[in-house]
Amino acid sequence: MFPKSLFNLNQLTTAAIEEILSRAAYYKKKRKKESFSSLKGKNIVLTFWEPSTRTRVSFEMAIRKLGGNVINYSPEISSEKKGENLKDTVNTLAALGADAVIFRHSSPGFFNLLSQLIDIPFISGGEGCYQHPTQALLDIFTLRDRGVELSQLKVIIVGDILHSRVARSLFYAFPPFSAELTLVAPPVLLPEELVPRGVSRAYHLDEVLPEGDVVYLLRVQRERQGKNLLPSLAEYSALYGINEKRLPLLKKGVLLMHPGPVNVGTEISRGVLDYFEKNCPGSVLFQEQVRNGVFVRMAVLDLFLGGG
Ligand code: ASP
Repeated sequence: MFPKSLFNLNQLTTAAIEEILSRAAYYKKKRKKESFSSLKGKNIVLTFWEPSTRTRVSFEMAIRKLGGNVINYSPEISSEKKGENLKDTVNTLAALGADAVIFRHSSPGFFNLLSQLIDIPFISGGEGCYQHPTQALLDIFTLRDRGVELSQLKVIIVGDILHSRVARSLFYAFPPFSAELTLVAPPVLLPEELVPRGVSRAYHLDEVLPEGDVVYLLRVQRERQGKNLLPSLAEYSALYGINEKRLPLLKKGVLLMHPGPVNVGTEISRGVLDYFEKNCPGSVLFQEQVRNGVFVRMAVLDLFLGGG
């Protein structure tokens, strides 16, 4: 049911996704201090070639909770700097006794290549602007865990779709559960050819916002914009940010999601966050997404690397 490595969500059947979600729910129900043994004796290398806080730390916590050994391997001090190619580096890690690698890398397409070159399994912790499968899994988990019915749920994803690996994984996470996806961004960040079949797109946020049961915000990925596609962040924010002016447009009971890091003042204003905290506590799911990341990553590691 599970492929050897996980680097995109379209590799997974809906049944496999369901299995991950129910395993994550199992771990979430367990007592906080309880630990497990499905990775006992296994050496898992964590190697992140782009910045990360949530994903890296939650993978590390997940490995430890499952009884595995964490080996942090930093590209800054690695043989890459001495000219070794990445395939040789990974094979060296395997020769040293690594059972699996959790990888974040900036080049889209790299993991597909890697999967054909190395023998040990690897799990993506985010690949350039290609995919970030465990993020999308934890997003679906977070909604289901709250009792949200995904079928016919209207999800609006607003932001830098063009450069978002999270969006590209969400494209394969929501439709299998019959949720309706609408993508919203300025035209330069939402080219027509990127929009998958069955997914809608819009360029004017105010027209679609009132329909969203879930509004999923994405950061403008400034580090990936080779040329400056946006005239200014202030203009982006005025047109696509969730600010006080847009509060009346939001559906009653709307849930707000974001993969983090959140740029307060760009994709969402401080005033809106304060308003939600005071009037609709529990509707901003950002921290819950982070917390659930540990359980979902435990489930993924268990099912992919721990023998299920
Ligand atoms: N944390 C997410 C990622 O690694 C989203 C972001 O960086 O904006 O893709």
